[in-house]
Order: sequence, then C-alpha cells, then structure tokens
Amino acid sequence: MTKERVYLFDTTLRDGAQAHGVDFSVEDKILIARSLDSLGIDYIEGGYPGANPTDTDLFSRRRQYKNATFTAFGMTKRAGRSVSNDPGFRAILQSEADAICCVAKSWDYHVRVALQIANDENLESISQSIVAIKDHGREPMLDCEHFFDGYKSNPEYALDCARSAYDAGARWVILCDTNGGTLPEEIETIVTEVAKVIPGDHLGIHAHNDTENAVANTLAALRAGARQLQGTLNGLGERCGNANLISLIPTLLLKSEYADRFEIGVTPEKLRQITHISRVLDEVLNRTPDLYAPYVGAAAFATKAGIHASAILKDPKTYEHVDPEAVGNRRKIHVSEQAGRSNILSELERFNIDVAKNDPGIDRLLEEVKQRQALGYAYEGADASFELMARRMLGSVPKFFDVDSFRVLVERRHNAVGELVTVSEATVKVNVDDEVVMSVGEGNGPINALDMALRKDLGRFQEYIEDIELVDYKVRILTGGTDAITRVLVESMDRDRNRWFTVGVSPNIVDASFEALIDSINYKLFRDHASAH
Ligand SMILES: [Zn+2]
Repeated sequence: MTKERVYLFDTTLRDGAQAHGVDFSVEDKILIARSLDSLGIDYIEGGYPGANPTDTDLFSRRRQYKNATFTAFGMTKRAGRSVSNDPGFRAILQSEADAICCVAKSWDYHVRVALQIANDENLESISQSIVAIKDHGREPMLDCEHFFDGYKSNPEYALDCARSAYDAGARWVILCDTNGGTLPEEIETIVTEVAKVIPGDHLGIHAHNDTENAVANTLAALRAGARQLQGTLNGLGERCGNANLISLIPTLLLKSEYADRFEIGVTPEKLRQITHISRVLDEVLNRTPDLYAPYVGAAAFATKAGIHASAILKDPKTYEHVDPEAVGNRRKIHVSEQAGRSNILSELERFNIDVAKNDPGIDRLLEEVKQRQALGYAYEGADASFELMARRMLGSVPKFFDVDSFRVLVERRHNAVGELVTVSEATVKVNVDDEVVMSVGEGNGPINALDMALRKDLGRFQEYIEDIELVDYKVRILTGGTDAITRVLVESMDRDRNRWFTVGVSPNIVDASFEALIDSINYKLFRDHASAH
C-alpha cells in the first residue's frame, strides 16, 4: 500500500516570533531556517518580507535552503481596491518568496465588526488575492482565520470563504483555530465536513494550544483528511503557543497508526536530529530546555526506581514507549533514594566510566550515595557532581587545588553619598602546588563575592576556568526554620555553551554554595584534562 504524503509547515519564524518575549535577529532566523530545512520541513513561513527589513533580508537568502518552500505571510488585498492599488499586498507579491500565505477572516462576525465590509466583498477579496498570487508565479495559500469559531456560528459562510480560495486556485486552504479553544472531537467533525467540499490534499490545519490540545487537534484534523500540518518548534507561539512540531513529528514517524498510513518529508534518519533542533531553539531564545518535554526532554526517558532500572537494562521496551535514540535522546536512570547497584552501573555506563562489574568500589559508591542522599543531596539534577564523586571513589580524579580557608563578610552601611547599601566581600586562600594564593572578591551578595574571589587566581589552572559562566543558581530549603538544611544547585556554562550542574548541601547557605562552586570548577578542570602535578 502506498502511503499518503502529508506536508509539514513551520511557522516558528512568523507565529512563533509573536510569542511573549521573543525577538529574533536575522542570524537567529537563518540558523532556525537552516535547521528546519535540514530536518525536512516542507514549508518555512519566514515572516513579512516587504513589511519588515529583517524578513526581507531572510527571504533574499532563501536559495541557501535546498528543500523547503519559503513562504511569506500577509493579508489578502483590501476590499474595494485593485491589487495594484494596495501597497501592502503588492509588497508581498514582489517579495522573493516561493509561496505566499494570505490570511483572511472566515467568521462573518469579524467581517462585519472588524472589516466592516459585506460578506461578499470579503469573498471577492479572497479570490482576487489568490488569483494575483498565482499570476505572479507563487504558490498560493489561504489562512482562514477563526475558521472553527466561524464555522460554529455560520457554517455556510465559513465554507464559502474556504471554497472561494480553493476555486480561485489556492494550493492550500488552512483552517485556523485562531483562539485555540476548539477540542479534538469538534476539530475532527468539522474537518470531516469541510473535506466533503474541498479535497483533503488541499486542506491544512493551524492549531493553537490554549486547551493544551494543539497536537491532538492537529492529529484529529489529519485523521479527518487535512494533509498540511502547521506548527512551530517547541510549540513556540502567541499566548500558549502553537502545535509543537517537536512532539508531532516523532508521533507521525514512530506511531504505527500514522506511520503506516502517511509519509512526511522527515526521514527516520533525520528524526535523530530532533532533540538537537529543539535545543537549538532554546539556545537562540536563551531558555533552559524543558526537562519534561515529550520525546526530547532530559527526563523523557528517565527512570527512577531501582526495580525498574534493572528491568529497563534487561529490556528497555518494558518501560519506554519508543527508543530514545530514534529521536536523538538518551536513556537515563536516576540515582535516587531507591538507588540500587543496577542504577549505579547504568549511570557509570552513561558517563563512560569503565569499571568491572564486581569492583568493590561500586558498593562503596552505592553506600556513599545513600549516605549523602540521607543528608539532603540529590543527584537527579546534578550530573557533574555525581560524575566527580563516582570518579573520585573509583580513583580517577586528580587533586587540582585545595581551599585552605574562606571568609565572607556582609556589610550594610551608608555609602559616600549617604545611600544605604549592602555589600559583600569574600577572601579565599587557595593552595595550588603548595603555593598559597589569597584573593579577594566583591559582589552584590555573599555567593557572588565568593565566586569572584575563587575564580580570581587559580594559578596555572586559571586559563581553564576563565570561560566559566554561572547561568543559574537555585536554592532549596529542605527543612523549615532558620536552622534549615539548604541544598544549592549551580548551573555552569563554558564558551561552547556546554552546561553542567553541581550540588552542595549544608545548614549554611554560603557553605552549600561553596561546595557546588568548587565542584563546578573541579568538573571543568577534569573535563578539559587539566593536569595535576
Ligand atoms: Zn496562529
């Protein structure tokens, strides 16, 4: 049986760019477009060339992208004006896009209230726009804005809008759930009805995530006949976002209900890039990757319980719905309170620590983990601290330096211009190769001051730590009261944007932070093969 072709349409650079707190530079856009193109996305909606200089620049370089059809977005031509007398519409027509997606109202209420034109004028504007796009040799598409709400209020008119575009030659008529409030069963029913009028291989779906159903709605539309699926990387988009292509694509390729019936431009080989591509977007946005993201999150294939861990090592299928490698992710078995030998072994394997299965060091390590967990340590979020501890107990981490002592002062006083300020100063004595160096650091808080002092002069190791940047610092109070135990988690990053996580625990917050900072530095030295004497 031959499979039916389903087309993927990405709108990260247009709808995603409208998300709260997102502002892509042209370099960001090029990087994202390149990732999408290499993944095998059929259409990349690049924005508003002609209206926005960044987008004009992006479109002018579209020849670099081999596979994807570069699509411009804009409004249909204004009612009551000819195409040549509508500068906005003319600008899109003259852009360097391969395809043009126009948006039009398909809810009679909006036509009346927002556009203040007659229903028929809107239909005319739709068909004339589609014809003009076609005449300019570009692939025409129409986004039917508010289609589902419109259909529920006036099905005949919503269908008339879609049909006007199709009859005028639109390659795709996209049904948009603009407010994102429609549920999967309604989507499936309505798309089934629309597909009786417009063939499914000309129908697209554009779903928003306001009820957390954008992916489900997209799959519902696919089942009902739509063959173009729109979405964005990581679900980025206005309000709660769009359908998440990063979740949708693995489902289409790995779940037999869809994989057996449909073919998409993304191959199983390319699918292995998807975890990476999801992270690329996070990097561009300077966001921490979502641990719990389906398929690609660091926790997506993480197992905690000791008993599950032994089963998962024997047969991963018992606890995994798909193979993590299929999406470029990896299996992770947490070292947890239920830590057992099998957890430890699989963790050592993950860090490529070579050790014989009967090495007595493994039992010592297991004991140490349990004792530390009883004190409040948690290694689920602190891979680097765990790896350091394991390697130390198995004897492979050299001693790089010692901190003989540290002192931190916090002072609240009036400054020279009489303002009340709180300043912190830290002094550390570091011993490198029996040479003691004393450094002083100042900061806006005690931890910041301590970090400054620690990294001021580490002797011959200085070059290795110069590029460490602390990107996140989290404090968790484990028991109540001012005498509580504090757990500190530090996230560090180097100039290649590699990240690592370390942990410290103490009744004293400065002490806990110190421990996590020291682990971070030691980890960097070990990883970069700084040599100890
Ligand atoms: Zn949208």
